[in-house]
Amino acid sequence: MEKILIVEDNKTLAKLISKKISETLNFEIDIAYTLHEAKLFLRMHEYFVTLLDINLPDAPNGEVVDYVLAHDNHAIVLTGNIDKDFRKKMLQKNIIDYVNKSGVNDVNYIIGVIKRLQKNKEHKVLVVDDSMVIRKQIKAMLENLFYKVITVAHGEEALGMLQAHLDISLVITDYNMPVINGLELTKEIRKEHSKENLPIIALSSNSDDEVTALFLKSGANDYIQKPFSKEEFSCRINNTVEAQENINLITNHANRDFLTGLYNRRYFFKTMESYIEEASQSNESYAVAMIDIDHFKAVNDTYGHDTGDKVIIHLSEILISSVTHRDIVSRFGGEEFCIVLKNINKYNAIDIFDRLRKKVETTDVLSDKGEEIRFTISAGVVMSGDDDLEETINQADMMLYKAKQDGRNLVLIDD
Ligand code: GH3
Ligand code: MG
Ligand code: MG
Repeated sequence: MEKILIVEDNKTLAKLISKKISETLNFEIDIAYTLHEAKLFLRMHEYFVTLLDINLPDAPNGEVVDYVLAHDNHAIVLTGNIDKDFRKKMLQKNIIDYVNKSGVNDVNYIIGVIKRLQKNKEHKVLVVDDSMVIRKQIKAMLENLFYKVITVAHGEEALGMLQAHLDISLVITDYNMPVINGLELTKEIRKEHSKENLPIIALSSNSDDEVTALFLKSGANDYIQKPFSKEEFSCRINNTVEAQENINLITNHANRDFLTGLYNRRYFFKTMESYIEEASQSNESYAVAMIDIDHFKAVNDTYGHDTGDKVIIHLSEILISSVTHRDIVSRFGGEEFCIVLKNINKYNAIDIFDRLRKKVETTDVLSDKGEEIRFTISAGVVMSGDDDLEETINQADMMLYKAKQDGRNLVLIDD
């Protein structure tokens, strides 16, 4: 388990923060009451992040911050001090945040910051700026916030990078650059990626209001004027990333089945619409299968509804692991699933579905009481042809019905 170090001489406060963090986050926590103790801890362990009081009995002027940063640790500074100059001095150091520690809300804020840092680890940011000094500076700031960072010197390089790294989740671009400037880059990116899929934040020292407006109209999600404070920078970056995460969450809720996380029926039809067009243009054939668990009612009746749910989840995992990432696996409802294998011929399709059927037949699920449950599935398969999707699915349903009639645990394909 990852660890957090709290350095705070106010024991009540240190314990309160520690308790709150352990209640909401999965971290092991060490508490040091002095700089001396902090040094001992830091010598022994690695920390995800440290929370540092700047007024300690043996270090009254923030010395602990310098020590922690000099030893490559991440620091969030805790303070009761609202002195402006002191705050400025602290923010010049490479700290993550400067946080008040007087109230309950402050502790919640700290927890929010730690959660943000954990999620930032999953994000790859592309920084586009022709100045090496600025690239380095922004990279350091982003890495201090736990983002993964790639830097490039101009727009053309950025477009190449986006093609090579499909997992980039944010672009930060300068305005004035050779070859392709930031505005042109933004327009180029928007041809391929929507604001929701790939946020862009523009940077510029240009004080012309028009540039700001042009950036936003061209699809930038936000705009930061240079020079900027570190606090403004991290707030804007984090806000944009958070907004994108929320949109993803909502989209996932709308497109996915709650129990299994598979695509739902609604999304299946939506995504098939574009795929069918693509497939007909490239003359690609595909297979559609309706799959249903045999005698599932008996599973529910014998082992209970919760175990029935477990069987459905187990099957969905087998289905996903039996196809490629391009294929579509969806839950239509109940114990009924629809799978589309893309770019495949009839013989390979039968082979895959029959292997799937055997895999289900030979694995078992444990009930709540530890009983081994075996179950089987039946499938009706139809190859793509001239019919529309509804009709294809109807035919697959008819083949499924026939498979049930013929004794179940069968894959039947329409000839
Ligand atoms: P067949 O072999 O002909 O498909 O028989 P069956 O018993 O599998 O089919 P039937 O349609 O008679 O029963 C399906 C059962 O699935 C009835 C329903 O209560 C149950 N079911 C539907 N959705 C869920 C679910 O989300 N969880 C659980 N545990 N059961 C569900
Ligand atoms: Mg103190
Ligand atoms: Mg059934």
